[in-house]
Amino acid sequence: MKRTFYHIVLLICLFVCQAVQAKEYTVQSVPNVQVADRTQYVTDPDNYLGAETKAHINAMLAQLRDSNSVEAAVVMLPSIGNEDIDNFATELFMHWGIGKASNDNGLLIIAVMDQRQIVFRTGYGIEGVLPDVLCSRIIRQYITPAFRNGDYGKGMTDAVQQTLNIVMTPDASAELMAEEVSEPLFDEEDKKILMNVLYGYIIISVLISLLITIRLNRTISKCKHDTYECYKELNSSLTMLQVLAALIPLWGIFNLIHCNSTMKKVRKKARRCSECGTLMHRLSEQEDNYFLTPQEDAEERVGSIDYDVWMCDMCRNTEVLRFEKRYTQYSECPCCHAKTYSLSHDHIVLPATTIAAGRGEKVYTCSYCKTRKVLPYIIPKIVVSNSSGRGGGGFGGGFGGGMTGGGGARGGW
Ligand SMILES: [Zn+2]
Ligand SMILES: [Zn+2]
Repeated sequence: MKRTFYHIVLLICLFVCQAVQAKEYTVQSVPNVQVADRTQYVTDPDNYLGAETKAHINAMLAQLRDSNSVEAAVVMLPSIGNEDIDNFATELFMHWGIGKASNDNGLLIIAVMDQRQIVFRTGYGIEGVLPDVLCSRIIRQYITPAFRNGDYGKGMTDAVQQTLNIVMTPDASAELMAEEVSEPLFDEEDKKILMNVLYGYIIISVLISLLITIRLNRTISKCKHDTYECYKELNSSLTMLQVLAALIPLWGIFNLIHCNSTMKKVRKKARRCSECGTLMHRLSEQEDNYFLTPQEDAEERVGSIDYDVWMCDMCRNTEVLRFEKRYTQYSECPCCHAKTYSLSHDHIVLPATTIAAGRGEKVYTCSYCKTRKVLPYIIPKIVVSNSSGRGGGGFGGGFGGGMTGGGGARGGW
């Protein structure tokens, strides 16, 4: 009879123990009060702090956010099981994305009651004004003594107040707001330097432009004697004129147009026969093929070089003039030296992964002699960037997506 009674008492004890056993939270199951209501910063499901303290801390943290853009959260949890509170704090910080993504100015204060441990976790952008040593001092001076006496409300209020005092001093504010408030772009000293650079730029541009223009006109004046040589020289000065167009656009473009139209005229201008001095005539594209070598014909077909053939009607003398295209995908073939060599295809043999590098092949072919060259190359391993894993801030309210490098401090009571 007695034994049954004990059994019953034991059973009741077990039942009660299980009922009062603290609820274990995971990073995912901690309620993010900020998401539901932008004015809430304190997550305290078991109400260790009391409604009045919570309202007070909420007001302080709202003021902090408004004046410094710092986002802070206070979390009081009965239990996180056997999880390490340091890891838990970092994971929760990243999961919620506390702090603005642009300057990572977040702060998380988390206490786990059954472990009797508290952690301050700071974002990258706040570590400077709230270094680990200060977090540690706040824990020792304000949290530990009050929490030891069970006065959680006072401990947390004082700790938050002290943190605000540090973070909201003018110097600290300036550092935290650095990314938000942009400084004036130029001061007086900068303006002076800028003006000097501008004058220098104008003088140098004018000088360079004058030199280029004089040279161009001298070349054009030579065209009366040898049109083909003149054409080649004008063609090679096009790059210089493009530089000029970048320096002084209107002047440069005017000179470019002038140069191009002169080149066209020069190319069409009737040439005198080198044998008998008679004016020759230019053959049409169809007629001139007969006078080109198969290699020249191939170059003309792919469009890398243009050939003009002039013929003397008097002595049947012919002259073949070569005009290189400025922009072409073709280069000189290492085998036959025709300008008919180009990349025909580029394909991936083995795609790169996050674990290993990949391989690709570039295939070059010559459309004249059919030479084919395969050049293998390495595709670098895929690097996964850390910033893709930013959490929080996705539901109307919520935090801004800040990150932490694990700064802060840990203490117990
Ligand atoms: Zn002739
Ligand atoms: Zn070739």
